[in-house]
Amino acid sequence: MMPADPLDPVAHGATLTIDLDALVANWRLLGERAGTEASAVVKADAYGIGIEPAVTALARAGCRTFFVAHVSEGIRARKVAPEATIYVLNGLLPGSCDRYAEHALSPVLGSHEELLEWASFRQTGAKVRPAALHVDTAMNRLGLWAGEGLNLARERSGVIAAADIGLLMSHFASSEDETDPANARQIAAFAEIAAALPEIPASLKNSSGHFLKDCPSYQLTRPGYALYGGNPTPGKPNPMRPVVGLEATIIQVREVEAGTHVGYNGRWTAKGKRRLATICLGYADGYPRNGSWTDTTTGGAALLDGALCPFVGTVSMDLIIIDVTEAPAGAAQRGAHVTLIGGQLDLEAVGAGAKTIGYEILTNLGRRYARRYLGL
Ligand SMILES: *Cc1c(COP(=O)(O)O)cnc(C)c1O
Repeated sequence: MMPADPLDPVAHGATLTIDLDALVANWRLLGERAGTEASAVVKADAYGIGIEPAVTALARAGCRTFFVAHVSEGIRARKVAPEATIYVLNGLLPGSCDRYAEHALSPVLGSHEELLEWASFRQTGAKVRPAALHVDTAMNRLGLWAGEGLNLARERSGVIAAADIGLLMSHFASSEDETDPANARQIAAFAEIAAALPEIPASLKNSSGHFLKDCPSYQLTRPGYALYGGNPTPGKPNPMRPVVGLEATIIQVREVEAGTHVGYNGRWTAKGKRRLATICLGYADGYPRNGSWTDTTTGGAALLDGALCPFVGTVSMDLIIIDVTEAPAGAAQRGAHVTLIGGQLDLEAVGAGAKTIGYEILTNLGRRYARRYLGL
């Protein structure tokens, strides 16, 4: 028996379109804006769009440096980018050095213990690429605390030299909010440590960092979300091109009278006569159940022929009900397509409707859709 054609929309019910040309254009735009080399952060399956196609397209366009979260993701990126520098953000799990050697991956070292473990692994004569050193300037999550980093930097022939550090980096905690005074403090703390290790290339900017005033670009930037079309300047027009579009098919249309309860547990009640449509997509596809629209909470929406159609009741595993009463006459038909991500339903709007952020919408994109890649 033949498996279902991965592109056959009628076999799937929902189609995810991923525009790799837009991805590459976004990467170029960020590099030009920074005036320095831009890497690409492709952790979490390239924020849900697929690590192999994303890395292939970006490497072909000239991207030489990638960041992933885990060694397993690094191995996948390595297969399609044999020459690239691939940094693993989560760094060294105890005893993992040989995996880095085997796949020519570079750990992002985030503590003194990791520095020591890597330095002694190098002393065994292992052939490895340079590592990165992560300095924590705000988050208290990963990285050497900045003061500790400064002390190590001053020991000229110490562990930093022994570990062969090829990149010094830190990560913003709130760069999407340009009014947050924490940004300036992080910029200053990182400048101090970068000045103490002037021979090591440095990297500070994530997506939103590209749009902060008074932030140096150093030698490398590390955008993720904005590459995939997310808005790095929330509340302002999005400078990025959309990369992801999601469409689902209507399977049924019906009319209900005032007082009708709809969906699991009847959590939504019609306030008047309404036209409802049921679409082929649900939480098993990665659409958050928190997008449910009940009598007491607002939720997500779909676009039908340009009209915004709010969800009705709870998001189920494979289905969502939408209110198509306000859609243009005749648009709501069995077999018609509605947009879940696209147009005014950008990643930020979809995230807000589901009480989360666009990042989580992207990284949860399901495996069940027909996936159509443009520009492959
Ligand atoms: C995820 C991540 C990035 C990318 O952040 P975006 O906000 O998606 O651009 C950059 N640096 C580090 C350390 C990260 O963990």
